[in-house]
Amino acid sequence: MSIRLISGLLIFCLFFTVPSCSEKDKNATLESDLDRPSFALVIHGGAGSVHPDRMSEEREKVYTDALNRVLDEGERILSEGGSSLDAVEAVLKLMEDDSLFNAGRGSVFTYEGTNELDASIMDGNTMNAGAVAGVSRIKNPISAARAVMESSEHVLLAGQGAERFARDHGLEMVDPEYLKTQSKWRRLKAVQKSLREDSYISENGGDEKFGTVGAVALDEDGHIAAGTTTGGMTNKRWNRIGDSPIIGAGTYADDKVGGVSCTGHGEFYIRYAVAYDLISKMKYAGLPLNTAAKTIIHEELAEAGGSGGLIALDSQGNIAMEFNTSGMFRGYARPGEREVAMFR
Ligand code: ASP
Repeated sequence: MSIRLISGLLIFCLFFTVPSCSEKDKNATLESDLDRPSFALVIHGGAGSVHPDRMSEEREKVYTDALNRVLDEGERILSEGGSSLDAVEAVLKLMEDDSLFNAGRGSVFTYEGTNELDASIMDGNTMNAGAVAGVSRIKNPISAARAVMESSEHVLLAGQGAERFARDHGLEMVDPEYLKTQSKWRRLKAVQKSLREDSYISENGGDEKFGTVGAVALDEDGHIAAGTTTGGMTNKRWNRIGDSPIIGAGTYADDKVGGVSCTGHGEFYIRYAVAYDLISKMKYAGLPLNTAAKTIIHEELAEAGGSGGLIALDSQGNIAMEFNTSGMFRGYARPGEREVAMFR
């Protein structure tokens, strides 16, 4: 065989029998698309001291029903082909409107007896994010966070400026009285009685019932969104802002990796950049979602004295719901699958 013929054959083999890199990538993407569920949704209603012996059966049912209603709504949106962003916003609005939770109406009180709300949302498709902090007149801070993301060039707006922005963008405004509930007022009084003068953290080690809400969704197009919304921590002072409106601390989403929403003692979540740390552990160290979540919550945070939890999902729709407190209101849904729980 002539040299020319052999090299001709070699070139033919290289070009026509070995699939090109981009073809291989395409096939890998197609395979992983087939593996993942058509949607996944995970929610939390806060972590803290949630004990079976301290909760009546009726109360347990109230929480279970509320979490199921929220999952029903998210499942409806996602199974009809709705976007993860729409699902996250819709379920978190429901939770903000439900005074059971510490977000929107039913938010916890500050030291001065006011309510200051924080919220954030992130779109893992575009890597855009929006947040509001310290607001008292916006009915649904999660929608304001989305408006900041979609209709401004900023990520985080605070206080009266955020409220003006929300009003200008047609969001529903409320009198601050709307946010107040008797149960959270009693909680403020109980916490204030049990505290050192200079602290808003209870001396019992801080296993407070936090009650923040969060959601992470994966939609049929493989897009991930995450959101978190809260009244913060009971008895907070000096316009304290927690982790919930801080992208990378309380909330994060990246289509290529996963999404996460945190709940717990916010100062620790900010210092340890918990939301982004979870994503980094998967992205750079190659840890599976559950290992990454366990490491952060049970080792790093627990050792530092930070109590709380997180919910997360990865790009394949795997779910994590980890907490180092006695309980966390939580649940998830995937096609044909549903779980709602609150105790360990
Ligand atoms: N992380 C929230 C904060 O520190 C509280 C919570 O999760 O309930 O403001």
